[in-house]
Amino acid sequence: MSTPLAKTTCLVHPSRPAAARCPSCGAFYCAECITEHEGRLTCARCLAAGQKAPDAAEKKRIRLPISPLLQFAIGLFLVWLIYLAFARILLSIPADFHDGTVWK
Ligand SMILES: [Zn+2]
Ligand SMILES: [Zn+2]
Repeated sequence: MSTPLAKTTCLVHPSRPAAARCPSCGAFYCAECITEHEGRLTCARCLAAGQKAPDAAEKKRIRLPISPLLQFAIGLFLVWLIYLAFARILLSIPADFHDGTVWK
C-alpha cells in the first residue's frame, strides 16, 4: 500500500489510471482489465490461471455412464479373470519343475 491507487496506471494499458489492484498478483489494473469472479476481484491473467487448474483436474476424472454397483461387479469380474489367468499359468507349469532338478 505504498503507492496510492490514483497515481498508478493499468499494467496492460499504461495510459489508463488504475481502478483496482489484483489481490492475487498485486498488480494494478484499469476497470476494463479487472473482473469480479466468485465475489472477489481478479485480473484477467489470474482468472485464466485459476480456471485452468480445476478444469484439467476435472477432465482427468473418468466419468462412466454406469452405476457404481455395476462398476463394482465389473471390477470383481476383472479380478476373477486375472486370478483365473494366473491359476492357468501355474497349472501349465509341469510337475517335474517343482522337484528341484531344474536348479541343479
Ligand atoms: Zn492478478
Ligand atoms: Zn487495462
